[in-house]
Amino acid sequence: MKPILFNFSDPELEKFIIDMGQPKFRAKQLREWLNRGAPDFASMKNIPESLRTELDCIAQTLPVKIVKKLESSDGETTKFLLELHDGEQIECVLMRTTYGNSVCVSSQAGCAMGCRFCASTLLGLKRNLTPNEIYSQILIAQWELRSDRISDKPIRPNGDANNGDVSHIVIMGTGEPLQNTENVIGFIERANREMGIGWRRITLSTCGIVDGIDRLIEWNRPINLAISLHAPTDELRSQIMPINNRYKLSDVLDAAWRFTDNHNRQLMIEYILLGKRNENGETVLYNATPEHAEKLSELLHGKNCMVNLIPWNAVDERDFASLSGNAVHRFQDILIKNGIHTRIRRERGTDIGSACGQLRLNNAKNK
Ligand code: SF4
Repeated sequence: MKPILFNFSDPELEKFIIDMGQPKFRAKQLREWLNRGAPDFASMKNIPESLRTELDCIAQTLPVKIVKKLESSDGETTKFLLELHDGEQIECVLMRTTYGNSVCVSSQAGCAMGCRFCASTLLGLKRNLTPNEIYSQILIAQWELRSDRISDKPIRPNGDANNGDVSHIVIMGTGEPLQNTENVIGFIERANREMGIGWRRITLSTCGIVDGIDRLIEWNRPINLAISLHAPTDELRSQIMPINNRYKLSDVLDAAWRFTDNHNRQLMIEYILLGKRNENGETVLYNATPEHAEKLSELLHGKNCMVNLIPWNAVDERDFASLSGNAVHRFQDILIKNGIHTRIRRERGTDIGSACGQLRLNNAKNK
């Protein structure tokens, strides 16, 4: 396995370069490129070509390598399939939005949580990602944004907001971040310190690991918290999210309110709207009936929260069905009537397989 230079400390990088018979200052040049997210040595233009070729034979730049890059037809979303040093694969998504550039990162290779609607868990959990492996996903996105700026891509109407650097992070890709809490905390601290991404521009999404939320409370940084709720009762939630057998809905929400109250933050509630096919092949509402909307309103009444309704992206291996736009809006209308802040998450990059874990899964099937 080739050594990964990004993982070296400065003295280690210096020794590596001197052992190659090179002057010490090359280590500093290399470090600058690594910190900018150079995905390969060929990009390092101020390093002599002979040294770049030699480095390419014996070392790797970042802990992740791009296997596939897909761009949505509107140019707003770029999805990366990345490979880790041991061959495991993860996904990360760059979204150019009107409020800035947001990157959705993975925290684990695979996921053990077994949510019934999700593609990321179908191959089980392979392993936790290190802080460097999570951070490198941001660097890959940053490099992409800077490439946008020097390419002839048109400047988008919102100018600076979506032509700058990475401004927001969502930890909502493959994996349950609070099953890898210390590495995720290490990653967030670094993104804040080295890339200047403010706490309030970082969102961590969990399926509801109460011990992990308690750890975040103790860590005491004002990041945003999102809870993947997806059902308003324990009975229904346990059917689609096995974690609910361990942490009940009320315990998850109590912990989440404790976290957000500490920082006076709004809690994000993620709710995927699912349908099922009946025996006649018709789509019927699964967790999205008017009764479910009323029950959800009761749970959240008077609380400082925002419900993100997420139309489900079909995953072949899962036997749910996508709902019509009308069904989604009817569910939203009930929440709004009950005074619950609600929005429908805009579907991004549907033409590049936007369901979480879908790209990784398809690639594994084709191997
Ligand atoms: S929804 Fe999140 S927690 Fe649940 S299986 Fe998928 S990646 Fe894991």
